[in-house]
Amino acid sequence: MKLLDMANKYGKATYAYPLQPYEVAENFRGKPSYTYENCIGCTACGVACPSNAINVKLNKDKTKLVWQFDAARCIFCGRCDEVCPTGAIVLSNEFELAVKFDRNNLKEKGELDVEYCEVCNKPFTTKRLIAYDIERLKKVGWSKENIDLKVKYIRTCPDCKRQIETEKMSKYYYSNKIRGAK
Ligand code: SF4
Ligand code: SF4
Repeated sequence: MKLLDMANKYGKATYAYPLQPYEVAENFRGKPSYTYENCIGCTACGVACPSNAINVKLNKDKTKLVWQFDAARCIFCGRCDEVCPTGAIVLSNEFELAVKFDRNNLKEKGELDVEYCEVCNKPFTTKRLIAYDIERLKKVGWSKENIDLKVKYIRTCPDCKRQIETEKMSKYYYSNKIRGAK
């Protein structure tokens, strides 16, 4: 009777889960949910993921950037959600992750077309990332003419950009040196 009195006084302390759905708390960190359409292949989530649950790398013939997620490795830290610039990966409220027989059911995959460097033809990023960069330049006020002038540079890989800049600097340095010597 005493227990019944206490239960009446303090209310229910348990939940009927799994007979009834369980309402998770606000900002609950459940299974990361991936929206392929929003992913630009920037690789930020793969770099930030501390448990290697996310892997982003080129396929064998270097024609696609393959985004892969394995929920079995996820520790629900939320780093991927924090760093993703497009909201392609966000933590959901999902926590029922048991799979019966096939562990592959915990895996997700997305493939993105790669962009090849204008100078050396090496694959270095995705077509979506280049389009995203151009859109951002438009948003910050770059004119179409300016963007058109820069497009080749945007489509150049970091190695070739470094090479171009080094050549420019050495040309500048030597022309100044020659002028100074006259
Ligand atoms: S929540 Fe953390 S561990 Fe899980 S995929 Fe994202 S970054 Fe990796
Ligand atoms: S951070 Fe977002 S946009 Fe970048 S690869 Fe990961 S999911 Fe895709």
